[in-house]
Amino acid sequence: MVARTIPVDPFDLVVFGATGDLARRKLLPALYQRLRAGQMPGEARVIGAARRDLGQDGFRALAAEALDQFVPTGDRTEAADTAFLAALHYVQVDVTGPGGWDDLRQLLGDEAERVRAFYLSVAPEFFEPICARLAELGIAPADSRIVVEKPFGHDLASARGLNAQLSRHYGEDQLFRIDHYLGKETVQNLMAIRFANALFEPLWNARHVDHVQITVAEAIGVEGRGGYYDQSGALRDMVQNHLIQLLCLTAMEPPAQFDPDAVRDEKLKVIRALDPIGPGEIARHTVRGQYRAGAGGAAYTADAANGESRTESFVAIRAHVANWRWSGTPFYLRTGKRLRARMSEIAVAFKDPPHSIFLGRAPDPHGNVLAIRLQPDEGITLSMTIKEPGPGGMRLIETPLDMTFARVMGNGDGASVRMPDAYERLIMDVIRGDQTLFMRGDEVEAAWAWTDPILAAWEAAGSAPTPYDSGGSGPEDALMLMHRDGRRWREIGL
Ligand code: NAD
Repeated sequence: MVARTIPVDPFDLVVFGATGDLARRKLLPALYQRLRAGQMPGEARVIGAARRDLGQDGFRALAAEALDQFVPTGDRTEAADTAFLAALHYVQVDVTGPGGWDDLRQLLGDEAERVRAFYLSVAPEFFEPICARLAELGIAPADSRIVVEKPFGHDLASARGLNAQLSRHYGEDQLFRIDHYLGKETVQNLMAIRFANALFEPLWNARHVDHVQITVAEAIGVEGRGGYYDQSGALRDMVQNHLIQLLCLTAMEPPAQFDPDAVRDEKLKVIRALDPIGPGEIARHTVRGQYRAGAGGAAYTADAANGESRTESFVAIRAHVANWRWSGTPFYLRTGKRLRARMSEIAVAFKDPPHSIFLGRAPDPHGNVLAIRLQPDEGITLSMTIKEPGPGGMRLIETPLDMTFARVMGNGDGASVRMPDAYERLIMDVIRGDQTLFMRGDEVEAAWAWTDPILAAWEAAGSAPTPYDSGGSGPEDALMLMHRDGRRWREIGL
């Protein structure tokens, strides 16, 4: 089964920060894949804008190198290489000064027929100067799109400030705030599984769901990004955006239609229904950790070059969505660095049957768990208890029903279909003007409004994060957070 590809309208995409890490690792390879698939039309242009004096040939050489590094050889063709490099243009712009903007205006010309999009792949302090300049030059008309990267603010006040700056020049319908987790196939499939099947929805509530656990584990530490990370920490860097977004998609009510505002309205209601966690709750509901040296790596404090650092590289939270659907069902969130493996998943653990007729014959723990795996090996499994095959009597085993679409959608010879990177989907959505998978300003602010009091309560408590061993599953306290409730985390890396 091969997915249909419908080309998007011709576009001009200006990438500010086109020589940076994100552009080279993600944006240029994503655009290449979309061109190769026939979705990016031949007349489309990708205009790199950055400080370096590269010229068009220099930028094409940099892009060719990025493709060599980040696009699998099997996905490359000579025809796609030629067409892609021909679509690339470059202007040298210092976004804090006057130089280069006229070149950009000239290059863009008066192409009213094309979709125009500006991708701000630069540090957040440059968002305002870029937006102001684009407005002043009149090169970002009312139907153009502005894409902004994370982090969106450092707390509620700064996120509000950023929203106010952006809204001075652009309407909310032009703003595309990226959370690349929302671009993952499995995350979108969570919505399909919930809302396109009648099977799960009747069970998707506190009566039938025991708890939900959302894990985003990384094996690497903060090496190389220590300075930035030390000002941020796991709560700001991962929970406020990615984990809350995943929680929203899991917990939200079915929207009336699959349209951007209907979906985002429902997500916003979930964030606003989260019970606040303040000074009285942090000890029972949150755990902070910081990795020690080990497993071949230095301690967090050495990676961050800050021996006194109290920044958390791990956080676990017991969250509660206080509404009719979820009252009494905890949502456990955990994320951390230098853990046993890189693994992200949402696990929805259903309650046990009310009465077991198979005492002593069922595996322990048992029960149905719907596991939505984001990485590695994107896919969805539903664990079921079945009878062990064979004549050995009525013995029960746990077995996963595999709904991994790379296999299900394969071409029948056992080969998997390629899973597109999240950025491929998201950039095409920008061109199509579809904001469903992008965060609205009020959602981002509501998420900060929930995380800010946690940060403040940690600060007021004056305690340091608990050290944990590199290569494990985080601090002991995080295990206790679950044990106290008679539950346990799923293994990281299995
Ligand atoms: P980077 O430091 O590698 O690249 C920054 C880019 O900005 C370069 O192209 C540089 O030329 C350009 N730039 C800097 N100052 C400029 C100026 N005055 N005028 C014009 N151009 C200027 O950064 P990055 O890692 O590519 O990140 C870009 C943005 O994306 C940041 O907001 C970052 O937080 C976000 N982000 C990055 C990643 C990632 O994986 N790298 C992931 C998520 C979000």
